[in-house]
Amino acid sequence: MNTRSLDENFIVNAYNRFEVEIASGSNSLIYDSDGREYIDMGSGIGVNLFGAADEEWRNAVIAQLEKIQHTSNLYYNEPCARLAEMLCKRSGMSRVFFSNSGAEANECAIKAARKFSADTKGDNYFTIITLWNSFHGRTITTLAATGQEHYHELYQPLTPGFVHAHAGNIDELEKLSQENKLAAIMIECIQGEGGVVALTHEYAEAIKKFVREKNILLIIDEVQAGNGRTGKLFSYEHYGFEPDIVTVAKGLGGGLPIGATLFNAKVQNVFNHGDHGSTFGGNPVICAGACNILSRIDDDLLNEVTRKGEILREILADFNPTGIGLMLGVKPSRPSREAAQECINNGVLCTTAKDKLRLLPPINIPESLLVKAGKVIAQACK
Ligand code: PLP
Repeated sequence: MNTRSLDENFIVNAYNRFEVEIASGSNSLIYDSDGREYIDMGSGIGVNLFGAADEEWRNAVIAQLEKIQHTSNLYYNEPCARLAEMLCKRSGMSRVFFSNSGAEANECAIKAARKFSADTKGDNYFTIITLWNSFHGRTITTLAATGQEHYHELYQPLTPGFVHAHAGNIDELEKLSQENKLAAIMIECIQGEGGVVALTHEYAEAIKKFVREKNILLIIDEVQAGNGRTGKLFSYEHYGFEPDIVTVAKGLGGGLPIGATLFNAKVQNVFNHGDHGSTFGGNPVICAGACNILSRIDDDLLNEVTRKGEILREILADFNPTGIGLMLGVKPSRPSREAAQECINNGVLCTTAKDKLRLLPPINIPESLLVKAGKVIAQACK
């Protein structure tokens, strides 16, 4: 059987795959099993931050792999500790908990917010506000956090304790705070899966005031928009937010699974021994790779991301580009999946988000490839 038949016969039917079997890649170029070349404008949904098989990252991973592949969290391991230090120094946060995915990083944030709130305010203050159109993961709890009803329908009952607000509606925040005993508000600054929709600065200011006045925690989900993708290390920096908890995943691992939940000084002591845990979290091989990735997201690269984002925006100006930096959404005149298929036919891989094409290229994509891909995408949007 070929790969497609094996997949269809043995893998649960949860994915609507495109007709491409990815075989290999080299930075921003991807090759399929027939040897066709594609420019990568999706990076595996924002994961391969420095593209496919990036040499520096690969060397860091292999060097650790040759020492030991896994340790468990019963013992110390250096790459994990080093990555935690780097994350804290770069973000100004105080402590990190490592896990394996964005959903798990958010689960950890939610557990921490509930516990912190119970410890400081009392047991009933557990409700978390999230935004309509958000996406926070696919576990039962992070689905409950996700403000999209179509994700909820199949899996009732979801974890209680979440209410949703419409981004931009400032009065609604007040109403929700009167109706609920709140622990936190959790937001994406740019809703990725929701169609690459950035918060307005006015609403961001309202959230800042709200968390201050109501004494609740601010959790920011940087799973998709973090790791330099928007031209800042974290997208919340565009808004001047000072979050209590930040969740990171996807690109941080450069292509290997990682989740990280960052706590500020106020929340840093929320967990004691045994309160939370993960078998694979902090895996030394993945953390060694992530240290390499994070060390390379410097000011020069971030400025390049901003510049390249502007180039792409200009090429796609007719299609109402949304988002920031190299996290862009454009609206084709046809269903987004059809437009994505036409991109594939013309040698470009990109992802969709609702009625948009969602562009998340490797953040070091060469300008010439970006321009070439941008033109293919523009054609597909017509
Ligand atoms: N949060 C955001 C903003 C995401 O975009 C995603 C995934 O797309 C998640 C959380 C869930 O991450 P994962 O699929 O790694 O669990």
